[in-house]
Amino acid sequence: EKKKMSLTVKVLLGMALGILVGLVLNLTGLISNSFVDTYIVNGLFHVVGKMFVNALKMLVVPLVFFSLICGVCGIGDIRMLGRVGGKSFALYMMTTAIAIATAIIIAVSFGIGKGMNVDSAAAFTGKESPPLTQVLIDIIPTNPVKSMAQGDMLPLIFFSILLGISMLLVGRKAKPFVEGAEIANEIMMKMVNIVMAVAPYAVFALIAKAVATLGLDLLASLAGYVLVLVGALMFHLFITLMIVLKVFSGLSPAMFLKKIRNVQVFAFSTASSNATIPVTMRTVTERFGVNNSVASFTVPFGATINMDGTAIMQGVATVFIANVYNVELGVGGYLTVILMSVLASIGTAGVPGVGLIMLSMVFTQVGLPVEGIGLVLGVDRLMDMIRTAVNVSGDATVSTVVAKSEGKLDIDVYNDPLAGTHNE
Ligand code: ASP
Repeated sequence: EKKKMSLTVKVLLGMALGILVGLVLNLTGLISNSFVDTYIVNGLFHVVGKMFVNALKMLVVPLVFFSLICGVCGIGDIRMLGRVGGKSFALYMMTTAIAIATAIIIAVSFGIGKGMNVDSAAAFTGKESPPLTQVLIDIIPTNPVKSMAQGDMLPLIFFSILLGISMLLVGRKAKPFVEGAEIANEIMMKMVNIVMAVAPYAVFALIAKAVATLGLDLLASLAGYVLVLVGALMFHLFITLMIVLKVFSGLSPAMFLKKIRNVQVFAFSTASSNATIPVTMRTVTERFGVNNSVASFTVPFGATINMDGTAIMQGVATVFIANVYNVELGVGGYLTVILMSVLASIGTAGVPGVGLIMLSMVFTQVGLPVEGIGLVLGVDRLMDMIRTAVNVSGDATVSTVVAKSEGKLDIDVYNDPLAGTHNE
C-alpha cells in the first residue's frame, strides 16, 4: 500500500530543493544570465512565491477576526480573558528580554567586529521611533474597517475582542452572530488548508529565489557576525524556549520541536510572522491541541509583539557595530538596548525587514551611528528568514504554555505525533 507523503515532508522537501537550486544558480553564476534572471528567478520563482505570500496575507485578517470572536465567546468568562492576556504579555516580554540579554552576552564574549573596517558599510538611513504613548493610542482603532484594510494587528485584535465581549453581554439574541462567526471560522480554516496544498511548490520558489540572489560572498566577510548571530538564535530556540516550555508546562520539548518545523519553514520562506499567522494558528490548534479560545488571541498577538529572534539580531548587531566603531556602551548602554528592543517590538509588525528599522531606533537611543547598520545590510535578508523562524517558535511556545496553564490544552493531541495530519 502506497503511503501518502505528509504535508510537512513535502514542505521540507520543497525547502531542501529550493536551497539546492538556489545555490546552484548562485555559485555557477547562472543567476547573471539574463534569461535565468528575467524568466526563472525574477519571473517564475518570483511570481509563484509572491502569489503564495499574498494568499497567506489574504487569510490573516478574516481568520484573526472570526477566530477571536469565537475565542472570546468560547471562553465566555471575561476574567479568564484578562488572565490569558496578562500571562501571554508577560511571557512574551520576558522571553524577548532574555533573548536579547543572552545575545549581548554571547556577542560580547566573542568580541565580534573588533578591528573591522568601517568603509565597507552600505548607505543606510534610519527612522525615528514612535513614542510609546502613540503606540498605546494606536491600539484603539478610530475606524476598524481601515485597520482591517491595512492589516494592523493590534487595533484588529482590540476591536474583535470587544465585539466578542459585546456579543456575550447581549446574550441569547446575539446567538445567531456567534454561530455565524463559528461557521465563518471553520470556513476560514478550510481556506487555510486549500492554500496549504500548494505550499511545497511555493516554498521551493521562495527559497530558490532568496538563495539564488543572496550575496554569498558577503557571508564570508561577515562570518563573525553571522556565526555568532545564528549561534545565539539556535541557543534561544533549542535551550531557552525549551526550558520555558518544560518549566512552565511540563510538556515534551522533543514533540514541540518535531511539530513546529512546518511553521518554521513558512516563517523562513516568507520572513514574516504576520503572513505565517494562518499556519501557526492551524498548527497550535490542530497539532498541539491548544484550544482556539487561547490560540485565537495569543498567536496574532505574538506575531505582533513577540520577536525573540529579532531582539537577538539587535543584541548581536549592537555589540558588532559598537566594536567596529570603537564605542564603549557599558552596562548602562546595554540595559538601554534591552529595554528599547523590548519596547520597539511591541509597536512594530512582524513583516520582512522590520528588524532593521527597530535597530535604527535602538541605535538612535544609545547614540550609535545609524549608518553603521549598512555593514550588516547585505546579509540581512538571510538573517531575517532565520530570525523569523525563531520569532514564530516563540509565539507557539507561549501559546502552548498559556493554554496548558488555563487547562485549555488537549494533552492527547499534543502527545500524538500524527494529530492534525488527517486533513493534509
Ligand atoms: N521579519 C521579522 C518577522 O516578521 C521581523 C524582523 O526581524 O524583521 O517576525
